[in-house]
Amino acid sequence: AQARRKLIAGNWKMNKTVSEGLALVRELKGLVASLPGERVEVAVAPTFVSLHAVAKELEGSSVKLAGQNCHWEASGAFTGEVSAGMLKDVGCTYVILGHSERRQFFGETDETVNKRARAVLGAGLIPILCVGETLAEREAGRTLEVVERQVTGGLKGFQAAEVATFVLAYEPVWAIGTGRTATSAQAQEVHKSLRAHLAKLYDGETAERVLIQYGGSVKPDNAAELLGQPDVDGALVGGASLKAGDFAAIIKGGA
Ligand code: PEP
Repeated sequence: AQARRKLIAGNWKMNKTVSEGLALVRELKGLVASLPGERVEVAVAPTFVSLHAVAKELEGSSVKLAGQNCHWEASGAFTGEVSAGMLKDVGCTYVILGHSERRQFFGETDETVNKRARAVLGAGLIPILCVGETLAEREAGRTLEVVERQVTGGLKGFQAAEVATFVLAYEPVWAIGTGRTATSAQAQEVHKSLRAHLAKLYDGETAERVLIQYGGSVKPDNAAELLGQPDVDGALVGGASLKAGDFAAIIKGGA
């Protein structure tokens, strides 16, 4: 019996102006209100500049807010950065950490992800810790080794009770924004291995509590199949979260 809730989160990346973002959540709110909401939680991750306006627009709605990243320090001389406390203050519940685009283009490492996760928990927020292998790593048969290393590194120093609050997102790099999705069997295999890895690092109960999302070209037509896997506890959705109708259809696939 699986007691875990599902979490469907939309990562807008560097898309949508404030007014475009507001139009999107207005439409999404309406569509989500008519869905059976109990088992599926919904979140959106706009850019930092849209968070405040989107938070206002989401008041009274069940849709939660996520940051796309944050710095590990609480405040100070870190030009261009945003702290976890600021994200909490603006109304976020979640913060995406270690997205492959940040690892690839902005020098994110397991060590910096780990520092950010510490700040996120300290601010009373929930980290969505992203892991995933490249195509070359998959073809070399190194998928599990890579994602396990990323999980071990990202969670370094946390107690089991803290780890239980984390959301992990398995996002194979070769499936992000490519239209090429992992099959439900490929996703389930990695998710199951990650849960076994958590059980080894911590304990079985902790492993059972951690939500593990899948991300990588999730679309309305493949969502139900992926979300139907026993260890797939939701989705982190990029491109398809930019259209309210598509995102709502994906949410419906998880309900
Ligand atoms: C992502 O970047 O988190 C993602 C899964 O993107 P897409 O859905 O566009 O592949």
